[in-house]
Amino acid sequence: MKIYTTLIILLLQAGCSYAQKYEIPVIDWEALQETRPWEATEDWNSTPSKVSPAMTNTLAPSDAIILFDGHDLSAWQKPKYGIGADMATTEAITKNAVYENHPGTEAEWNIVSDALVVKPGGGNIQTKKSFGSIQLHLEWLSPVDKDKEGQAYSNSGVFLMGLYELQILNSYNNKTYPNGQAGAIYKQNPPLVNTSRPPGEWQSYDIIFIAPKFSDDGQLLSPAYLTAFHNGILIQNNFELEGPTLYIGQADYFPHPDKLPLLLQDHGDLVRFRNIWLRELE
Ligand code: MG
Repeated sequence: MKIYTTLIILLLQAGCSYAQKYEIPVIDWEALQETRPWEATEDWNSTPSKVSPAMTNTLAPSDAIILFDGHDLSAWQKPKYGIGADMATTEAITKNAVYENHPGTEAEWNIVSDALVVKPGGGNIQTKKSFGSIQLHLEWLSPVDKDKEGQAYSNSGVFLMGLYELQILNSYNNKTYPNGQAGAIYKQNPPLVNTSRPPGEWQSYDIIFIAPKFSDDGQLLSPAYLTAFHNGILIQNNFELEGPTLYIGQADYFPHPDKLPLLLQDHGDLVRFRNIWLRELE
């Protein structure tokens, strides 16, 4: 009886931080054009050396959860909320999404020739199911577009738990800040090497993500860690994340559930995806 009472109290405590709605702060983008605070976190000084990848082809093992195999978007939905730009918006959006149990509508991206293609303006897509620590495989392609450059050339991203981004970008002869290029943990850590294939060719990410852990009273017990292979080559080696991915400002952790949906980013570019699967690690 005592054990049950303790359990109920713990559950109530764990749930209480999502028992209200939060006001999502409004960012005045026009006013920020003068000071451009997002440039403060662009690191232009650590360009990774180049390595040419071998051919890789990684099909799903028997225990994988298939998220996209060329046929349908049934594992995905369009989230009600976008991605936060700074700590305040990111925390409020996440807490609202948790409070509302990750509301969403039908995913709007297109399936063309067995590939999942971003629909510019159609919004991000997130998995209907929530995940914590995972091994994730996906393949992506940056379409050739000679008029594009920098952050505008095939930008997308894999947001683990909807919060922690491994950047997708054409980084084959396309200059940008290294902690924002393909394989970067966006604005936190550049990839160890640049092993990007040219636009028009399929590339792979294999990611091992360890979810952060929080105590019942919201203290950080263990941060998130990310290991990643780009085209089979190690680009992130058990990197300790500083907190969620932010466009503006320094990241810090805020408590959230053990599992959250995986998200793929619509950044307005026609990036393609295929062969997306994961294995849960705990
Ligand atoms: Mg991105």
